[in-house]
Amino acid sequence: MDTSRPEPQLSALYQELILDHYRRPRNKGTLEGATHSVALNNPLCGDEIDLQLRLEGDVIKDVRFIGRGCSISQAAASMMTQVVKQRRLADALALADRMSAMMHGDEAAARDRTLGDLRALAGVAKFPVRVKCAMLPWNALKDAVKS
Ligand code: ZN
Repeated sequence: MDTSRPEPQLSALYQELILDHYRRPRNKGTLEGATHSVALNNPLCGDEIDLQLRLEGDVIKDVRFIGRGCSISQAAASMMTQVVKQRRLADALALADRMSAMMHGDEAAARDRTLGDLRALAGVAKFPVRVKCAMLPWNALKDAVKS
């Protein structure tokens, strides 16, 4: 058994949702006319995310990603694109903080409906090594809009 990279034991329903996003990622591909982009990786796990955004004013009009890596990182990227698309940038960044809180065990954050499918990742908080996988797309989002 590979103890360096334990698979989080999540509820069956959540596991199913994560695998669904992993196998059929939403908003995956190259975004024409992207105004912001960044490539980030998580060397601990070998995850890679190339995130592209099109901002119009302060609204994320469109977002896509290309990536590879573990199911948690890729599902998190797919789920993130769903919740930040068409959202004001400030609200998307607030969600990044909410996600970070959830990944650090905040139960109120884990019940926040604005996180959408991302709540399926709440159980990952128990696996500190995998928190970096779940946060990778959010860190990419923050980096992309900094530039
Ligand atoms: Zn990973």
